[in-house]
Amino acid sequence: MRSVTSRVPLRPAISALPAYVPGARVPVGAAAFKLSSNENPYPPLASVQAAIIDAASDINRYPDMFATELSAALAADLTAGLTPAALAAKGPVTAEQIVVGNGSVAVLAHILEAVVDAGDEVIYPWRSFEAYPITVSVAGGTSVPVPLRADGGFDLPAMAAALTPRTRVVMVCTPNNPTGSAVTHTALEEFLTQVPSDVLVIVDEAYLEFVRMDDPVDGLAALAAHPNVVVLRTFSKAYGLAGLRVGYAVARPRLAAGIRSASTPFGVSHIAQRAAIASLRAKAELLERVESIVVERTRMTAALREQGWDVPDSQANFIWLALGDRTADYAAEASAAGVIVRPFAGVGLRVSVGEPEATDLFIKVAAGWR
Ligand SMILES: *Cc1c(COP(=O)(O)O)cnc(C)c1O
Repeated sequence: MRSVTSRVPLRPAISALPAYVPGARVPVGAAAFKLSSNENPYPPLASVQAAIIDAASDINRYPDMFATELSAALAADLTAGLTPAALAAKGPVTAEQIVVGNGSVAVLAHILEAVVDAGDEVIYPWRSFEAYPITVSVAGGTSVPVPLRADGGFDLPAMAAALTPRTRVVMVCTPNNPTGSAVTHTALEEFLTQVPSDVLVIVDEAYLEFVRMDDPVDGLAALAAHPNVVVLRTFSKAYGLAGLRVGYAVARPRLAAGIRSASTPFGVSHIAQRAAIASLRAKAELLERVESIVVERTRMTAALREQGWDVPDSQANFIWLALGDRTADYAAEASAAGVIVRPFAGVGLRVSVGEPEATDLFIKVAAGWR
C-alpha cells in the first residue's frame, strides 16, 4: 500500500507558519454586508470594466512582463503628487523606480526575498498586517515584533531600540492594519534618522488615500530624503481592484532592479495592468468614492463613541474595537445579523467601512452589545 501522507519534510519555518485568515466570504446572493477584508464596497466603474473586457481578447499572450505602460502612468501620477521639496531633492519619480506585482503582498514578499538572508532580523509593529510574519518566515528571516502602544499607535522609540546589527528590514504600516492609527511625517522622519542607511525601511501605505490628519506621512518625500526607504502601495483598497491583484513598490533604481529580479515572471496579468491604467485615468472619480467612505468612517466612529465604545481614531477604511475575550462571540452575532466582520480571536474586531446601509446596520448591532 502506498502511504497517503507525504514524507517530504517541510522547512521548519514553513511548518510553524500561522495560517493567513481571509475575511469570511459572503455566499453569492446572500443578504449580508462584507466588512471583513477592507475592500472597496463599490463595484468597478464602467470605464474600468470596459478596459477589463477589452483586455480579455489578448489573454492568449503573456502580459507585458515589466508592466511598462502602467509603470510609466504611475511615474507620471506620482511625480504630479510630489512636494516641491521632494521634486527639488530627487527629481521626478521614474518608471525604473517602480516595481509592479501581483498585489502589494507579493511585492512585499519579493522585497524580502531580495534583501533578507537566513537569520536576518525584520522589525515590525505588532499587532499589524498578518502577512508580515508569514512573508518574513518564508523569506528565511527572523521576526522581531514590537508591541503597539496601549492606544493602538506605533511605539517608534521601541522600534528604534529593537535595531541590532542583524536588523535588515523595518516595516512601518501606516495607517496600521488593523488598528487604523497612523504616524505623523515628523515622527517618521525622526525615526528614519535613527535607522542605519543599510537597513531597509518599508513604508506600507495601503490605506494612504483614506488619511485625513495633520502632518500625514508622505512616503515619497521620505524616499526622496532617504535612499533606504521603499514605499509600498496597492490598487486593492481605494482603487477597488482587490480581485485583480495589483500593487507596487517605489524605490531607488538599484533596489528596484533587485526586487524585479526576485519577482515572479509575468506576475501581473494583462487584464490587471489594463484595469490599473484605466483606474489611474478615473482617479478623480475613484477618490470621490474614497471621500464618501471617509464620511462613513467619521459617522460610524462618532455613533460608536456615543454608545460608549472606546474607538481609536482611524485613518483607514476600517475601525477597530478592542473587545478582548468577547471578540469571537460578537463577531458571530454580527454575522448572524448580516454584517460580516473580521475577528482577531481574544484581541478585537476590525470592521471595514462600507456603504451607508452597512454603517447603519453595524451601529445597530453594536448598540445591542451595550
Ligand atoms: C490590504 C493591505 C495590503 C494590500 O494587499 P494587496 O496584496 O495589494 O491586495 C497591503 N498592506 C496592508 C497593510 C494591507 O492591509
